[in-house]
Amino acid sequence: MEVNTDLHVHSKYSQGVSNKMEIPVIASESEKKGIDIVGTGDILHPQWMRHVEETTTGKGLRKYENTYFALTTEVEDKNRVHHVLIFPSMQAVEAAYHDFKQISKDIRREGRPRINASGAKIAEIAEKHGILIGPAHMFTPYTGLYGNHKSLQECYTNCTDVVSFAELGLSADSRMASQISDHDKLSLLSNSDAHSPWPYRLGREFNKFQVKNWSFKHLSKAIRKGPELNLGLDPREGKYYRTACNKCHNIYTLKKAEKLSWRCNNCTGLIKKGVKERVKELSDQEPDNHLEYLYLPPLSNIIQILEGHSSPNTKTVQKRWNKLHRKLGSEAYIIVEAKIGEIKKVDDEVAEAIRKFRMQDYDFKEGGGGKYGQIIL
Ligand SMILES: [Zn+2]
Ligand SMILES: [Zn+2]
Repeated sequence: MEVNTDLHVHSKYSQGVSNKMEIPVIASESEKKGIDIVGTGDILHPQWMRHVEETTTGKGLRKYENTYFALTTEVEDKNRVHHVLIFPSMQAVEAAYHDFKQISKDIRREGRPRINASGAKIAEIAEKHGILIGPAHMFTPYTGLYGNHKSLQECYTNCTDVVSFAELGLSADSRMASQISDHDKLSLLSNSDAHSPWPYRLGREFNKFQVKNWSFKHLSKAIRKGPELNLGLDPREGKYYRTACNKCHNIYTLKKAEKLSWRCNNCTGLIKKGVKERVKELSDQEPDNHLEYLYLPPLSNIIQILEGHSSPNTKTVQKRWNKLHRKLGSEAYIIVEAKIGEIKKVDDEVAEAIRKFRMQDYDFKEGGGGKYGQIIL
């Protein structure tokens, strides 16, 4: 069967996360979004671990009502690189917690703990407990693997083979990542890194897998094989897509930025290298054009653009979203599967906008320097 998965979210125990990030809310919003398996996030956090245990049932994959939960977390290593971990069972969570707590000061209180060890050491612990591991949002400056290292090998050293996936992050897609031959063996995941449960955050990027059964074993197989389809933002919408000034977001070419020694000549802010240029630097082969990546923003954002609102969280936007959801079903169904004619019967203008997105018939103001790009329909 086909399942939609989002394997990187955070609980209310991570910094800057909505206090609505609790299992019952995540489950019901996942259902609205059309996400079948969602990560618990933060599973090493003792209180969150207990909350997950108390609210869900099952072994490797836990369940709350109609939503399955994979046991996941994100950790930060001593070089500030982020990694996503997917656990086979609660026992593995507890065993890994025991190992990590010796080398972490904040694991008892922080949803995304800082582990005072290298990526290699974290991968070694992951392997010991049968945990899947891969770099989170790997191209992101500051906390992505390629923001700190030149290669997977440099980060994971003798444990590089343990890594089974890599997360693309909002500013990259699978075609961009496929230009680096180190990624040939890895499956490329698109997850949301959501800090709140609403369908314009949760599942704003997700993976479609083919799985045989609702179990960790089958999910793990599917992850290793790679998704059938990635869905997410157009990388140009990502806030680190282009090389740009951190302060005024002026976009620069790599040459110009180097010439200016990475100082903005508009406002003297620092210029941050974009994912586009970073990929170019690292690439050693042609992109794989067979990888399927659908560029679709969340439905609320599509409606927001039509309404000209600055946030998707307005009454008007949510009213239109609710009507579409009531008549047609989950958001993933509406944006990916539904026939345009079917959507037209409910909301003519939204149907036309979705058609344009599916055809990539839109313009962009590219993101960079920490500022999201802007879609112009
Ligand atoms: Zn992160
Ligand atoms: Zn500037």
